[in-house]
Amino acid sequence: MSSARPAVVPENLLRPEVLGLHAYHVPPAGGMVKLDAMENPYPLPQVLREEIARVVADAEINRYPDAAASQLKADIRKVSGLPAGMEVLLGNGSDEIIQLLALAVAKPGAVLLSVEPSFVMYRMIATFAGMKYVGVPLAADFSLDLPATLEAIRRERPALVFLAYPNNPTGNLFDAAAIRQVVEAAPGLVVVDEAYYAFARDSFIPHLARYDNLLVMRTFSKLGMAGLRLGFLAGSPAWLEQLEKLRLPYNVGVLPQLVAAKLLQHHDVLLAQAESIKQERTGLLRALTRIEGVHAYPSEANFILFRVAKATQVFEGLKRRGVLIKNLNGGHPALTDCLRVTVGTQQENERFMAALQDTINQ
Ligand SMILES: *Cc1c(COP(=O)(O)O)cnc(C)c1O
Repeated sequence: MSSARPAVVPENLLRPEVLGLHAYHVPPAGGMVKLDAMENPYPLPQVLREEIARVVADAEINRYPDAAASQLKADIRKVSGLPAGMEVLLGNGSDEIIQLLALAVAKPGAVLLSVEPSFVMYRMIATFAGMKYVGVPLAADFSLDLPATLEAIRRERPALVFLAYPNNPTGNLFDAAAIRQVVEAAPGLVVVDEAYYAFARDSFIPHLARYDNLLVMRTFSKLGMAGLRLGFLAGSPAWLEQLEKLRLPYNVGVLPQLVAAKLLQHHDVLLAQAESIKQERTGLLRALTRIEGVHAYPSEANFILFRVAKATQVFEGLKRRGVLIKNLNGGHPALTDCLRVTVGTQQENERFMAALQDTINQ
């Protein structure tokens, strides 16, 4: 190298907010009982796997995918009960849709508002899209603090509000009337993130036509397709036509389109699995509640948040016993000594409970 120019190093070139971010950490889980990422634990029925194998064998992977994804969108409309006149935009996971929304509204000084603790990607994406992030603390019982949220909306005038419904990592559904007040007060878009819709008893999809600033986002990751990477945004054509301009043309590949369409044609199979998960959730919550020193929170999702005396010690103890869950201790003051366990199969939940008992008794 003869050049006299100074070394090109990230510190000199990258935006300070990018340098300041921590990459989203995914721990290795080889050989563990994996209860950290809200995946559906059940395999697909053999007949359905064979149908998928045939669809994949015939797929034209030498061609670019259908950029409009017409078949898949039609299947999504059918299973999600979309009101007439509403449209769908597809994302490579719903994370990509959060990013697309942030890019679309990120004028200088634009604010993305959410509540805390909630899904960490709202803050991360706001930061790297160049938006100002505002997190309004939830009440002590993790319900929406409506006066504080409305006050923050008046003060910050957010271009974008995200509310996870049910919320991750707390597992509760916020009060629907409170969310409607947020939608009515917000000067910008409000996105209700229904990642856990399959496990919850309510949805905002039926309200879409009532508000000009409401969008509903869903993912199929938690329903059993985490590996496919597919999410969608539902709302009025006026918004989605604009947002489509930011979607990279082939963001959902040929194989995810075909396989997801096939699975959605068997949506009943996935919903039956979700039903089993909900039953397991009831048992798991009861079992957690019985352990002295454990405070478990009720959940409308496929995971349970619980508090212990020394979360990091319990987390490490579980890991040594071959069970991986999520340690939330240190992430947010309201989550001190909190852990989050994904609801697994009956056998996985039993292994988790045995390991937890063992760790706590130690
Ligand atoms: C998991 C999750 C998502 C993102 O899911 P994708 O796998 O990117 O589709 C979005 N929002 C919430 C609240 C989540 O928990």
